[in-house]
Amino acid sequence: MFTVQCDFDDTLVTGNVGHSLLNAFAPAKWCAIESLYSTGEITVEETNRRQFALLNVTKQTIDEHVFETAKLRPGVPEFIHNCTSIGLNFSVVSNGVDLYIEPALRSLTSSRIELHSAHGKITENGISISYLDPYGIHCLDAFKLSWLRYFKSQGQKVIYIGDGKSDIAAALEADYVIATSSLEDYFRSEGLVYFDFNDFYDVRQAIDTILI
Ligand SMILES: [Mg+2]
Repeated sequence: MFTVQCDFDDTLVTGNVGHSLLNAFAPAKWCAIESLYSTGEITVEETNRRQFALLNVTKQTIDEHVFETAKLRPGVPEFIHNCTSIGLNFSVVSNGVDLYIEPALRSLTSSRIELHSAHGKITENGISISYLDPYGIHCLDAFKLSWLRYFKSQGQKVIYIGDGKSDIAAALEADYVIATSSLEDYFRSEGLVYFDFNDFYDVRQAIDTILI
């Protein structure tokens, strides 16, 4: 059996919805926190914890922003439908926050999609987020990798789809990798095997090749 583990921001959707929210509603300090992540000083989970704590918004503001800005990559609805019909498990695993991913998925596709992401809570001091690994343990590192290892421990072969630095550790342990942007750059520069994609018609073709 195969599980397709798919990233959300910049992968399933065309932009980064989390960054778009921070850009619109958080003080500019969120960019300085992003720099700490870029230079490897803090994990992506810690980055998001600090950044979303800066975001003082209502759920309605989040929903409206998501409805106005989030767009799926071309071919996603057909792809998810196809996964269901050929018996592939499709799971979105994201370091982003359920408060914006859930409304995006609900508004963009009629399919019910398995989602593992940060759980966000709106408080008087910004959005408090937490990550639970597959065993219900809080984690502040390697969230995506913990889910990949879990799927593999269940006897699944994992096809990993992603775009960025936070996908590298999980992608390196996946059975197959379908990559774009900096994840693709990484796999290419390391001489590793991967499929590239721009849209989910490309992803479909890659998976057809994998399943032959
Ligand atoms: Mg991404």
